[in-house]
Formats: sequence, C-alpha cells, structure tokens
Amino acid sequence: MTEKIIYMDHAATTYTDSAVLEKMIPYFSEKFGNPSSIYSIGAENKDAITKARGQVAKAINAEPDEIFFTNGGTESDNWALKGVAFANERKGKHIITTAVEHHAILHSCEWLASKGFEITYLPVDRYGRVSPNDVEKSIRPDTILISVMYANNEVGTIQPIKEIGEIAKRYGIYFHTDAVQAAGHIPIDVKAENITLLSLSGHKFYGPKGVGVLYIKKGTRIQNLIHGGAQENKRRAGTENVAGIVGLGYALEAAVKEMPKESERLRKMSGRLTEELLKIPASHLNGHPYDRLVNNTNITFEYVEGESILLILNMHGICASTGSACNSASLEPSHVLTAMGVPAGIAHGSVRLTIGKRTTDEDIETVISVLTDTIKKLRSMSPLTPKEML
Ligand SMILES: *Cc1c(COP(=O)(O)O)cnc(C)c1O
Repeated sequence: MTEKIIYMDHAATTYTDSAVLEKMIPYFSEKFGNPSSIYSIGAENKDAITKARGQVAKAINAEPDEIFFTNGGTESDNWALKGVAFANERKGKHIITTAVEHHAILHSCEWLASKGFEITYLPVDRYGRVSPNDVEKSIRPDTILISVMYANNEVGTIQPIKEIGEIAKRYGIYFHTDAVQAAGHIPIDVKAENITLLSLSGHKFYGPKGVGVLYIKKGTRIQNLIHGGAQENKRRAGTENVAGIVGLGYALEAAVKEMPKESERLRKMSGRLTEELLKIPASHLNGHPYDRLVNNTNITFEYVEGESILLILNMHGICASTGSACNSASLEPSHVLTAMGVPAGIAHGSVRLTIGKRTTDEDIETVISVLTDTIKKLRSMSPLTPKEML
C-alpha cells in the first residue's frame, strides 16, 4: 500500500527542492576538487562557494564577506554565543536571551553559565513575545550580547526584532538572532534591523541538511569555534561542504523570490486550518494570533495527549509534531508553552502543524476532518473528559 503522505512538519525539516538538488549533484562527482587547491576542478569549487556567499548576502542585505558557512543552525548558534562571549569577556560576562529559544541557544547559554558567564532569560507574554522594554531594562554595564530568536520554531511567534536591534545599537551591545525559522518566510534585512550576528540553516528552507550560515557584521569581535585550516577567511576551519553550500545558496535565493506569492498561499491555508480546528471544543491557539509564521498552526486540545494524536495521525499518513522534534522523546512539557503560561496538564495536548510548498487545499481539508474525528475519539475514551463534552 502506498498511501499518500501529508507532510505537516516543515518546521522540523523540509525536503531538498529538486531544482536545488540538481545544482548540488555535480559537486559530489565530476566537480569534486578541494576548493583550496589551485588546479581547475578545485578552483571552480571556490567559485561556486563565492557565488553562494553572494546569494546569501543578497537575501539578508549583508556583504558577501560577512557570510560564513557552518554545518548548520546549531553550530551557528553555538559559534555566535561562545565566540562573542570569549572575545568580549574583558568588557563583561552578561548575556541576555529569552526563555523560548531553541535548545541550541539555551544549552549553549547553560554551558557558558558553567564557565562563569551570567545569563538573563527574559520572560514572554502569553503569545510568546518578549517585550523590548524588558530587553532594555535588563541591560547592565557588563552586558555583551543580546540573543533573541527571529521567529519561534514551536508556536511561530515573531519577535520584535527591529525594536530590539535599535535598543542594542543605542547601548552598543551586539545583537544575535536565530533566524532559522524566519528565513524564507519573513524578509530579513540585517542592516535595517541592526543585527550583528544571524543564524540560518539550509534544511529549513528546502536546502540540504548539514549546512548553515552565520552572518557576522564586519568589525565584530568574535573568537573562532572550529580550529584548523584557513577556510572561510580563517574564521571557520574544515574542508567546505561544497555541494551543501551550493544548495543552501540556491535554496535561499529561491525562497526569497517565491516569498510574496507563497506566503499568501500559506497564510490562507493555515488560516483555514486554524479556524476549523478551533471549532473543536476546548481547543486553544498557541502563539501570536497574527504576528506569527504563515505556515504554523499550533493548537492545544484539552483532555487528550499530543502523543496519542500524533500516532493516530500517523496511521492516516499525516506527519505532525507536538512541539519541537527534540522533545518528542521526553515527557517534559514544552519549555516554550511553559514560558507562555500554558499549564503543564494542558500543554501535553498540543499539536504543531507546519505546512509548506507541496501542501494543497485538499491536504488541509483531510487534516481538518481526520483531526476533528481523532480528538472526538480520544476524548470519548478518556476518563478525564467532562461528560457534557461527549
Ligand atoms: C532547526 C533549528 C535550529 C537547528 O538547526 P540545525 O541546522 O538543525 O542544527 C536552530 N534554531 C531553530 C529556531 C531551529 O528551528
């Protein structure tokens, strides 16, 4: 049986677009040379990397020599935090971030705290938003970095990046943003938004896995994270993932080009999905009602377990998630929902549906109908469900 798969987990990862894959393939075979070599099959690889660097720079309004390729969003986040922390510790050891960051940020901060840095985790409101006022109030003379994600991977809430960038600039503090979920969905302008460092990951916008970017504004004091050869202008050692870099460049260029049209399509579809699912009794939308990623629908259904919902959806060929993919093995409620004030007992009944390029109106209708039936069925089996709801 080859049942159709309805993939609604694009925030976890996307497939590599076939046009992107086509651009990558030669770099696995005939164009396999090392970009650091001087013969032609090496040199043409260097050119390919240069081209990708330009594509990324253009997509976020940076300069090409401010773009550094890494092995993914996690490495970029680690580099930004640890690199800035140790290069600026004489100025101070205080870092400001939020309670709803990806674990690549939160666990890097925990590690830095164990090395003597002080971390302030800003709270968020019930929509998952951090207040620029709170950012400003938490600044101290020894603050060296503010790191606030562009858009949240679980609930889709978009942070007030421009306002925070202005504050950081006013106080002369570096500003890093994890834009892994935002890229390809929201126009990013590192200059206009006063961003000092920004993380991207190829596999979240139809590029390959295992390749990412750290944008570092010219003149930023940052130490290297990976030591070795002279690649990436002596900032990030290791033979380049040429095929991955080529793929990331094309994927980001395409995502930015398609954004205006695709955003509208996604907004309409996720809007319908959200509206219909909220007709289910005792259901709540998580995240901001409109300042949110256009492809994200995150809903809590009371009296049911998210894991049970996912298993039944899976039997119907529907791929979704309960929050972040990293959490699916743990019974801890999502740190994001917890920070937003969602009670632990209820947070467990949350489902995240993130749609993408191949999602159709028909898929949306199927998911509405399957999910509505699933919730009804699960509630009828649960002793917790109030009688009047059955
Ligand atoms: C996926 C993700 C990451 C990690 O990126 P990888 O390339 O998978 O390491 C970091 N931050 C956010 C917000 C993400 O969604």
